[in-house]
Amino acid sequence: MAGARAFDLDLAGLKLGAGEGRRLELEVKFEPLLLGSQSYAAQPARVPVRLDVSRMLGGGYALRLRFTAALAGPCMRCLTDAAPLVRVDVREVDRPGEGEELESPYMRDERLDLAAWARDAFALGAPVKVLCREDCAGLCPVCAADLNEAGPGHAHERARDPRWAKLRELELE
Ligand SMILES: [Zn+2]
Ligand SMILES: [Zn+2]
Repeated sequence: MAGARAFDLDLAGLKLGAGEGRRLELEVKFEPLLLGSQSYAAQPARVPVRLDVSRMLGGGYALRLRFTAALAGPCMRCLTDAAPLVRVDVREVDRPGEGEELESPYMRDERLDLAAWARDAFALGAPVKVLCREDCAGLCPVCAADLNEAGPGHAHERARDPRWAKLRELELE
């Protein structure tokens, strides 16, 4: 899912002076995320993002990216539609020539690969388990019934507490 790198946002074009900043409201189109073997799509299809660009004293940029998007796909427990919200608030600093730690992998020649940065941040912010709701009861391991609908009383003979079986034997005697 790496996608083609596109350093297509020209920050030099903003013509910011040292210490100046600009807030940009943009849209990013996300490729689906692969979690486990399932595909999860960002919603909406074009996610509005807020990008704060600051030109630092002494050169380089400090960047902050914020957006909220839903991660839509099957619940990992019960397989119905889930769309948990992912809130992203990440920063990057790019000061070329001052060591690797201060060079952003998303920047090249004052151009930003916004799509790659947003995609990586979205993937990192995604929940480990995508659930339709936090307390999803999942599927019955015996018959695959949706336990959210079947309710807590749903059970099978074999799953029954053996002590009850003993009690029933006593009743029959
Ligand atoms: Zn569920
Ligand atoms: Zn069952």
